[in-house]
Amino acid sequence: MQRQQIIIEGIVQGVGFRPFIYQLAGRFGLAGSVCNDSRGVTIDVEGDAVVLSRFVAAINSEKPPLAAIQSIDIQNLPLCGAVGFRILQSALDESRRAQVSPDTFVCDACLHELFDPDDRRYRYPFINCTNCGPRYTIVTGIPYDRPLTTMADFPLCADCLAEYADPASRRFHAQPNACPVCGPRLQLLDSAGQPISVDEPLAAAVCLLKEGQVLAVKGLGGYHLAVDAGNHAAVLLLRRRKQRDEKPFALMANNIKKVQKFAHVGFDEARLLQGVERPIVLLQKTSDHRLAKSIAPANRYFGVMLPYTPLHHLLLQDAFAALVMTSANLADEPIAFEDDEAFLRLAHVADAFLTHNRRIHTRTDDSIARVMAGRPLLLRRSRGFVPRGVALPRISRPVLAVGAELKNTICLTRGDRAFLSQHVGDLKNLQVYASFKETIEHLQSILEVRPEQVAHDLHPDYYSTRFALEESGLPAVAVQHHHAHLASCLAEHGSEAPAIGVIFDGIGYGTDGHIWGGEFLVGDLQSFERCGHFRYQAMPGADLATREPWRMALSYLQTAYGEIPVDAPAFKGIPAAELRLVGQAAARGINAPLTSSCGRLFDAVAALLGVRQKVSYEGQAALELEMCADPHAKQLLPYELVCEEQQIIFDPTLLVQSVFEQQMRGVAPALLAGQFHASLAAMIVDVCDMLRSRTALQRVALSGGVFQNALLTEMTLARLENAGFEVLTHALVPPNDGGLALGQATVAVYNPV
Ligand code: ZN
Ligand code: ZN
Ligand code: FE
Repeated sequence: MQRQQIIIEGIVQGVGFRPFIYQLAGRFGLAGSVCNDSRGVTIDVEGDAVVLSRFVAAINSEKPPLAAIQSIDIQNLPLCGAVGFRILQSALDESRRAQVSPDTFVCDACLHELFDPDDRRYRYPFINCTNCGPRYTIVTGIPYDRPLTTMADFPLCADCLAEYADPASRRFHAQPNACPVCGPRLQLLDSAGQPISVDEPLAAAVCLLKEGQVLAVKGLGGYHLAVDAGNHAAVLLLRRRKQRDEKPFALMANNIKKVQKFAHVGFDEARLLQGVERPIVLLQKTSDHRLAKSIAPANRYFGVMLPYTPLHHLLLQDAFAALVMTSANLADEPIAFEDDEAFLRLAHVADAFLTHNRRIHTRTDDSIARVMAGRPLLLRRSRGFVPRGVALPRISRPVLAVGAELKNTICLTRGDRAFLSQHVGDLKNLQVYASFKETIEHLQSILEVRPEQVAHDLHPDYYSTRFALEESGLPAVAVQHHHAHLASCLAEHGSEAPAIGVIFDGIGYGTDGHIWGGEFLVGDLQSFERCGHFRYQAMPGADLATREPWRMALSYLQTAYGEIPVDAPAFKGIPAAELRLVGQAAARGINAPLTSSCGRLFDAVAALLGVRQKVSYEGQAALELEMCADPHAKQLLPYELVCEEQQIIFDPTLLVQSVFEQQMRGVAPALLAGQFHASLAAMIVDVCDMLRSRTALQRVALSGGVFQNALLTEMTLARLENAGFEVLTHALVPPNDGGLALGQATVAVYNPV
């Protein structure tokens, strides 16, 4: 006989760990107790030594699906003759430290009950248990307990209470536990928000969708707008009402089999789709799919997710090949999540609302991921991932990082963890800015942390910067945009050592007051040095140039030829007088700031190849250039690398000239687009080689929004690894500005004020 104290650390609270241990101890006939504490879960157990070791092995191999074990620490204790096994109540201050977990897809056990006619929750859209269900989106405060969630509106019935109190039940302390007797209910409303009297709101909603109507569906973190993805007219109707001209819509299909009817699903994609976070995954369309063309025009990919709430499963059961499920918002507004607000804002978009009376406390968009070079890459880290922490290499005083301006997220550190918020959005929108401030407050309260320092972007006019300097009341650290990208990549790899940073994105404020975006840095979590960049180019019209890629094409061609080839296809339909004016502005630097942006070079090439003259959403030209590129193009375009004042300057003029001339000679745009990608990858390796001989650094970090581009990333990775470099890419946070706050926070941790 032996008695052991087993301390388990990791994500072991709020995930059904104690009932799991209780049942396991019962199965092995062991006596003792289990409780939560500030470190994780502590088990005090006695029994036969051999059985004990099998018990520990089973903890590892059978742990609940949402649990993640970091360490198991075992110590022997003197025997005390325990009888039976008990779950001990945790002390209040201990449960307060328990971390709120992310929202999680409905588990297999609950799904089984959902479709079991004999179960008391048969077809109940709000079924959940300790292994699954809403979490982050319904928490109003901590400790994580029913009264501090939006489930406080629903007192438990006797049956649910019995499950809640039974250590052997899958619903022991499942805070959102509910059933048709005591829990939330579905309701169908018309476009004016008035109840439609029907016996079966769900069946009626399915009928509306079948008829081609637009349905607003209340989900976990907000409303979706749904239409039948096989119905071309319905998709066009939604596009028109949503004022969203070309941005792809996300799809939801019932299972992998159904997805395979319209998209290619590899092994890694399947794992991402079916992961507990259930993100939207980018999948290549099949050539013979039958879904509406306007779902994702000019795109080789569909964004697809599997159902993650019981309601989704009921909606999709057998009725549709797939549903369009796009965030319910107009243009740049945030996703609608409060009922009254949704009814108001969506009155002219939705024909009906499938809603319910469980409040959403925190608006949270769907996450977006893709597989790149065989690894998952997050393009948007939100629902399902938040508020899971990222480990930092160092413990520090708490820091708040306020992110950038577009794709904003914020980050809070506590101890050696960094917590990145859900996707907030574009801060120029007033509603988004309000949500930015709420998110800062809410994350502080559920993490119980008061920041002592604030980190912000170097850009003086970002709303986030102004908040940090004028409203936060905290000592501030300004972090250069591309240094933050580099630090974000290093931090997620837990790396304190310096690396060569290849940081390519749209725009970020530089230390010289110019707009950076094609940067070669050498640096670590504390500081950086700029060692190379794209040659500065005038951006005629400033912000307008990001919306009208032809302006960048004009700027480059004027540099190349000293005049504007007005008959180039890139300028089709634009009056010669306007072209001349823009050319003069570029030459004289009137409203034409200088930029080293890689994103703007993508814009110029996309315009030259006739891919995109104007864009309707951020990054569209670069995305469509990637989509049209021939991935097998090998030949390189000419380009120039020169050294000026210790800086390696990449001059794209020759490259742009070559694209233009070949295109005029009739060379296929797909081939030229492919060669453009290959040339950038080759240029990156050239520069990294030069920096390796200068610094002896072998490690390269790739970050910035441009590295959402799978073709460029895969080409660059292959070439760098061939040349003997160790390459760090993102996996836990996005390479775009959605991951920036993590880098800002880390740089502040290493530069305490
Ligand atoms: Zn469940
Ligand atoms: Zn109940
Ligand atoms: Fe950026």
